[in-house]
Amino acid sequence: MMSSRDADDVAAEPLIRLSGVGAVVAEKLAARGLSTLQDLWFHLPRQYEDRTALTPIRALQSGLPAQVEGTVEAAERSFRGRPMLRVAIGDGSYSTLVLRFFHFRSQQVAQFASGTRVRVYGTPRPGQHGLEIVHPSYRILGGTADAGDPALSDRLDPIYPAIEGVGPAVLRKLIGQALQRLPDERALELLPADVLVRELLCAGFPSLREALLTLHRPPQGSDLQALLAGTHPAQRRLALEELLAHHLSLRRQRIAMQAHTAPVLRGGKRVLALRKALPFALTKAQQRVFAEIRDDLAKPMPMLRLVQGDVGSGKTVVAAMAAMLAIDEGRQAALMAPTELLAEQHLANLRGWLEPLGVRVVWLAGKVTGKAREAALAEIAGGTAQLVVGTHALMQEGVAFRDLALAIVDEQHRFGVHQRLALRDKGSSGTNVPHQLVMTATPIPRTLAMAAYADLDVSAIDELPPGRTPVQTVVLSAERRPELIERIRSACAEGRQAYWVCTLIDDSDEVVAQAAQSTYEALTQQIPELRIALVHGRMKAGEKQKTMAAFKAGEVQLLVATTVIEVGVDVPNASLMIIENAERLGLAQLHQLRGRVGRGSTASSCVLLYQAPLSQMARQRLATMRETNDGFVIAERDLQLRGPGELLGTRQTGIAAFRIADLGRDAALLPTVQRIGEALMSSSPDLAERVTERWIGGAARYASA
Ligand code: ADP
Ligand code: MG
Repeated sequence: MMSSRDADDVAAEPLIRLSGVGAVVAEKLAARGLSTLQDLWFHLPRQYEDRTALTPIRALQSGLPAQVEGTVEAAERSFRGRPMLRVAIGDGSYSTLVLRFFHFRSQQVAQFASGTRVRVYGTPRPGQHGLEIVHPSYRILGGTADAGDPALSDRLDPIYPAIEGVGPAVLRKLIGQALQRLPDERALELLPADVLVRELLCAGFPSLREALLTLHRPPQGSDLQALLAGTHPAQRRLALEELLAHHLSLRRQRIAMQAHTAPVLRGGKRVLALRKALPFALTKAQQRVFAEIRDDLAKPMPMLRLVQGDVGSGKTVVAAMAAMLAIDEGRQAALMAPTELLAEQHLANLRGWLEPLGVRVVWLAGKVTGKAREAALAEIAGGTAQLVVGTHALMQEGVAFRDLALAIVDEQHRFGVHQRLALRDKGSSGTNVPHQLVMTATPIPRTLAMAAYADLDVSAIDELPPGRTPVQTVVLSAERRPELIERIRSACAEGRQAYWVCTLIDDSDEVVAQAAQSTYEALTQQIPELRIALVHGRMKAGEKQKTMAAFKAGEVQLLVATTVIEVGVDVPNASLMIIENAERLGLAQLHQLRGRVGRGSTASSCVLLYQAPLSQMARQRLATMRETNDGFVIAERDLQLRGPGELLGTRQTGIAAFRIADLGRDAALLPTVQRIGEALMSSSPDLAERVTERWIGGAARYASA
């Protein structure tokens, strides 16, 4: 019997040893990350085709792929704008199916002589004359039925992700060869036998070997629907192991992180002074989260903490107090926000709170140039800048801190893990790194947070400051837009302010800016007595800032804006928000936008305008918005509706690279993943490393930790 070490050797065998793989093919495969036998074992089909049966033409259903056999009744070539070949086939079931080709050679036309028998596979869609299949795969059969026809497949056909320069048939052959070398059941498993039996086999999951074989060659009678949906037990088995690999990798990053040291920050009198000087009392949740941060900072190990808090829950002040813990030790803190608008607001708030206590707050953003930039850089490097607030300009070359002890990043989703680390690195020297505090207003369901942020501790500000009245949300068809004019008038007549948010599916700044511009003009005509202003992403930063300041000061009553106001804008007197094309926005974004109202003590409302007809998904999203103001509930719904990719902004979090797992679909596996992760880390760290290696590969990931 093969040992698991032997299995490792086989797994690592280069593909060049397979027959049919020369230097050229090997290179093409390597370009797609396939260089060993194991890579091919895990190169899984992205789809399956069922050619095990024939469907009568009459029984075809639009959108359902099927295999059909029939006789050519007519073939017609035409040039309507572009060349086209249409072939009608019948199968005696009193129905006709049209095959339509846009790219074809003249031999192909000749192939389809009347009376020719063909076997076709594809997805029928409604056409001009009944169902048609565009560009089906097909083969021409012999003259008479049955005699010599190729047999139907006896299993589902796997369709692999295409690889440039390696045809599907070749790839299938190579994978077939690789699978012949698949080690036996025990040798292939990396999990310890007791864990395997207890957590997986007893729970009905197949072994890894069986799972791989099932997915590459689904046996007859396999559940095609489950396979296509990614919920087949074989897929879940692999998803589980992949999630485990990612989980372990994050855990390892965390352990690597904890090998670093960080300054002990206890702060002094000014921490209390700040708290006393605030115009409000902290909520219980703010107090609890601040206490968690303070405990972390009192340790000589770097903090890595994510603070989740719904819009308006008051994260900024917690950040200010954390910064004070560092500043009051004579060290530096930095706060980075994703947009200039947001960074500027933070600057204003933090200056208001900290400068009276003698703290020097310095501003650094992209638009700070020339002498001002030099001065800022000098203060940052010299250490007189105690708190530095800015945008990603903080991470640029040339920015050197004298003694950065705490790096605070707001709105994590807009930055990637790498950017977070880049800011941290600004304060690293030797094994010493700054503490990190990450703040996000997009609540992440617990299960997901565990998977995506296993390298962070998570705190939640799960309570809003007192005296806020929940926002009333109304969903209206765009036809009822005229009614809104009255609504805006009356809100403003009461001394309140309003937002009108323009969005478009085509999110190019320019198009949205134009739409906002014309909405602005229309509203200015319709409500001439109001002071209306416009802010969008194409405006100069200075202009934007002036407009926002005027709105904040109450000089502007109605602000027509693009989603630039999504994050962080804080004008408590605004009590009405209208969002156009709300059906096109995701839940998280709608929630963020809506969070701009309901910040004062007056009852606020949010009107979601949509263009009919609504898709099922959009209808559910808007209903969710109407039903709840709770960001955590919304996040859970978002996860159900859209899956986690969007929710986490996976692009940036670096957890996107799942081959098979899907955090939304497979969320139920996460508790098992956690348990197995726990067991492996404590009893067999070497196996943990091999699991990570198998799925994620290489040291690249840890290198950045
Ligand atoms: P977010 O969590 O969305 O970043 P902010 O930090 O911008 O929220 O806070 C929203 C508003 O609530 C700000 O005007 C802030 O000054 C105010 N605020 C914060 N904490 C409290 C509190 N405990 N009581 C009253 N108002 C508070
Ligand atoms: Mg904020």
